[in-house]
Amino acid sequence: AEGLRAELEETNRGVVALYAELDDQAEQLRRATELKSRFLAYMSHEFRTPVNAIRSIARLLADRVDGPLTDDQERQVAFIQTAATEFAEMVDDLLDLAKIEAGRVDISPAWFEMVDLFSALRGMFRSVLTNPNLSLVFEEPEGLPRLFTDDRKLSQILRNFISNALKFTAQGEVRVSATAVDGDHVRFAVSDTGIGIAADHHAAVFEDFAQVDSPLQKRLRGTGLGLALSRHLAALLGGRVGVESELNKGSTFWVLLPLHLGEPPASPPGSTAP
Ligand code: ADP
Repeated sequence: AEGLRAELEETNRGVVALYAELDDQAEQLRRATELKSRFLAYMSHEFRTPVNAIRSIARLLADRVDGPLTDDQERQVAFIQTAATEFAEMVDDLLDLAKIEAGRVDISPAWFEMVDLFSALRGMFRSVLTNPNLSLVFEEPEGLPRLFTDDRKLSQILRNFISNALKFTAQGEVRVSATAVDGDHVRFAVSDTGIGIAADHHAAVFEDFAQVDSPLQKRLRGTGLGLALSRHLAALLGGRVGVESELNKGSTFWVLLPLHLGEPPASPPGSTAP
């Protein structure tokens, strides 16, 4: 019995030591994650000032405040503007991702009508749509009740889907729809007739910094953060994202959300529905 007790005590000490070590490792991981988030937030914040300076000076040049530009100069200024805009978007995405990782994102749900969100999106993309072989269609969201969720976060998800669809589609149509599902959910879908994504890449496109490795995709590459951000945002709204796609045929990116985020206040102002 003495021997057994000694053995048990020994095992016990081993287990305690193991737990302490695991605790230690969990703490180290937590600290590393926090440092990474703080670094991302700091860096993206500090990048904003210089990139905004570049953008405004490029705008001054493009507006020819110092006299006319040659064709070459005009092209170069346009290049600076595009590059600076892309850089600013990347910084914004990084900052958003850092905020989400640090749990510092405020979700503020409100009542709104789908038609209003769609017409706002239509307005935003009107000036971006310069390809005459490509049309952007918003389907009429029929029979959808009002939503109670964070419309700005939802708009950010849909903007990411739509700008990707426009970027990866040379001709045809980008179609945006909203359909009620199971009475208490809504499914938004952005379908394109673009280059598509091979099946083995479907899951990966929603990972941080993920980009599909193909020559055509490489020419169009951005930051690889938009879809990761969309996935995080959808989760914050109680939903999830997904993709159906076939190479060289097109893609459908969707987000499924509950119609109501949490317990909405009584009835929406001015509504007739129960
Ligand atoms: P990026 O800034 O590279 O567009 P995203 O996270 O938005 O980053 O997208 C990740 C990758 O998923 C893209 O680089 C592209 O390879 C692929 N992808 C996203 N949307 C589409 C689409 N509509 N058609 C084809 N490929 C797409």
